[in-house]
Amino acid sequence: MRYGIFSDVHSNWEALEAVLETLRAERADALLCCGDLVGYAAEPEPCVAAVRAACRAVVAGNHDWAAAGQFPREWFHDAARAAVQWTAEQLAPATRECLAALPLTWHDESVAIAHGTFREPEQFHYLFTMDQAAEHLEAQPTPVAFVGHTHVPVVFMRTPEGSVRLLHDPVIRMTPGARYLVNAGSVGQPRDWDPRAACWLYDTARQELACRRVPYAIAAAQHKIRAAGLPAVFADRLARGA
Ligand code: ZN
Repeated sequence: MRYGIFSDVHSNWEALEAVLETLRAERADALLCCGDLVGYAAEPEPCVAAVRAACRAVVAGNHDWAAAGQFPREWFHDAARAAVQWTAEQLAPATRECLAALPLTWHDESVAIAHGTFREPEQFHYLFTMDQAAEHLEAQPTPVAFVGHTHVPVVFMRTPEGSVRLLHDPVIRMTPGARYLVNAGSVGQPRDWDPRAACWLYDTARQELACRRVPYAIAAAQHKIRAAGLPAVFADRLARGA
């Protein structure tokens, strides 16, 4: 089985289209999305439709639930709250319902996904530290799990001996008996100083995790954000990837 996994699309159609094309070309058997389909950029409706059509499983992000009226908007800083508000106004009622109905976690026998963390997923905790990762690797329902939310792609590995390491390699040959927690980074608003969209392949037969960075039409996405009257910061930062 070859899973294609991505997160944090944030209404960026150009980036999503490029990632879906890449995962198709990579012959992924099943696509999974770790949430935040909407927020920040200008095309929420087409992004929700395309993610739902393409993916075997999609979990809710804080922006999805906030736009659907299911998570408090006070949680967000001013510019993000403006984007949540704008997004909520754009969404058709059926799309809002579909976002509200997204589950917080999902797993099959090989892989698990959540937006923030598996512990209290409805709180959308951020996971940054090695201590948080160690606790998470213990608790996640499968040996391999993917999350999003920070927009920074990274892999935490727990060795069979029990120590936790941070891996940055773009391709990881998995160690038998180890556990892996992958932050998928972001399709539509990367924040690791690489403006290319991020996505992952998890090949269960080859026991391999691979990160792909995908160039896309950034200027076109920026133009749509500005034309929609969304806060300009969400257009500006796409060029930096931060
Ligand atoms: Zn996000």
